[in-house]
Amino acid sequence: MAYSDEQLKRIYHRTNGRCHICRKRLSLCNYGELGRRGAWEVDHSRPRARGGSHHGNNLCAACIACNRSKQAATSRTARAREGFKRAPLSQRGRDARRAADTATGAIVGGIAGALVLGPVGILLGGAAGGILRNSRDPDE
Ligand SMILES: [Zn+2]
Repeated sequence: MAYSDEQLKRIYHRTNGRCHICRKRLSLCNYGELGRRGAWEVDHSRPRARGGSHHGNNLCAACIACNRSKQAATSRTARAREGFKRAPLSQRGRDARRAADTATGAIVGGIAGALVLGPVGILLGGAAGGILRNSRDPDE
């Protein structure tokens, strides 16, 4: 199936430019370029052989090795082989996750700080908790 540049960009950015199975970094301009660095293809998350559609929600970027070895397996099965449960988040998803993590860290840190240091600890613990939670990888 041929995809427009706009469709390819949308599919590529859905997983922040990473293979949705093994999370390897992909190169937008090397779509379908077997042998090139970051080469990728469009994978049907639910395979066509299992009734998967061409709808955008079913299309994911995958490195060529993953796409071709996946065959008629589901994405869940293919990701499990790589030790992952979910596809990588989009940039928007990563930003949202990071903001939520920072808020959670600040609250938890504030409570912990208050328990250890009293009222002054709320600020110190909140700041430390926010920084610590913000620094983790949102895809984890
Ligand atoms: Zn891959």
